[in-house]
Amino acid sequence: MSLDKIWLSSPHMGGTERNYVTEAFDTNWVAPLGPNVTGFEKDLEAYQGENTHVAALSSGTAAIHLALIQAGVGPGDEVICQSFTFCGTTNPVQYLGATPILVDSEEQTWNMCPVALKEAVADRIAKGKKPKAILAVHLYGMPYRVEEIHAFAKANQIPVIEDSAEALGSTYKGQKCGTFGDYGILSFNGNKIITTSGGGAMVCPTKEVKDTTIFLATQARDEAPHYQHSQVGYNYRLSNISAGIGRGQMQVLDKHIALRRGMHHFYQELFNGIAGVRVHAAHDPAVFSNHWLSAIVVDPSLTGGISREDIRLALDKQHIESRPLWKPMHLQPLCKDFPYYGGKVAETLFENGLCLPSGSNLTEEDRGRIAVVVRGVFGL
Ligand SMILES: *Cc1c(COP(=O)(O)O)cnc(C)c1O
Repeated sequence: MSLDKIWLSSPHMGGTERNYVTEAFDTNWVAPLGPNVTGFEKDLEAYQGENTHVAALSSGTAAIHLALIQAGVGPGDEVICQSFTFCGTTNPVQYLGATPILVDSEEQTWNMCPVALKEAVADRIAKGKKPKAILAVHLYGMPYRVEEIHAFAKANQIPVIEDSAEALGSTYKGQKCGTFGDYGILSFNGNKIITTSGGGAMVCPTKEVKDTTIFLATQARDEAPHYQHSQVGYNYRLSNISAGIGRGQMQVLDKHIALRRGMHHFYQELFNGIAGVRVHAAHDPAVFSNHWLSAIVVDPSLTGGISREDIRLALDKQHIESRPLWKPMHLQPLCKDFPYYGGKVAETLFENGLCLPSGSNLTEEDRGRIAVVVRGVFGL
């Protein structure tokens, strides 16, 4: 008998998604607008909290692109970016002909290091260019150092684009991630905590930003009976079909967060007492992570030589997917020539870190299979 594959993070439908999709077909709203798009935006606004305005878009990457445009980023500009992230964070900076200025992470959150950020901004200003925006990421659902980053950005009058693609439902001091920045970004890609198959959103602080975002996302069409344009636009709106999936997913979001957090708890217990393996966890009770992905760091000098790769390969043999942490962008061939500030925190995490199966749809049996492999690797 061949074993079913256990995935890192796979789509998990709640059950009502199909009703919204069927309704879209029945009413012929098969278009990048319609009741599901508006309904999904309303659901997200209610979820993100008071005074939020959400524009549903075709992807998280598109949302970052439109945020950068509204922050005034253009050719030759510089944008400070967390280096330890997925390329979806930094690619839109390059779409605009601007340069990502890459910054290291700090040990506790694995996100943007406030010290390296200060150093980077001071040095870029000394070199003659003030960065146009700061792109900070709540990686794996773990909030970044909200207070330090935003206080610094405010003092220096640099807008913050908050990449919350992995952090829907995470909070800091009870406030939802996605609502701290001048622009907040969400993703509903297939592997994220909820999915619309593909999709994203911008969480906007004002109705004007939302309106501008939708204007830019629908080819920047001016008011006129014919098609009239005075600026470059994009085709970035979310489909009414996809948004229907999103409306169903919103009904199970909190339940799925609880299940992901349950996976994280499972790994804390599993690795408890195994020297040299640390499960990434909140460092501060004010931090609430959705634990989109559970991750560990392995120190082979304390495990008797057992490495991240030993664990990954042993899991793979049993059809269990795991993956090294994000390769920092400053180590990617694509970005190797961009300025980098900081040390080796992100690099070391990449060398020794591993993301483990974290889906809300994993079963007791799946957990059992994972535990057997892990215990086997450590001879327990
Ligand atoms: C997924 C992701 C994105 C991009 O979102 P898409 O919807 O896939 O375009 C951006 N940043 C981070 C950190 C992500 O994980």
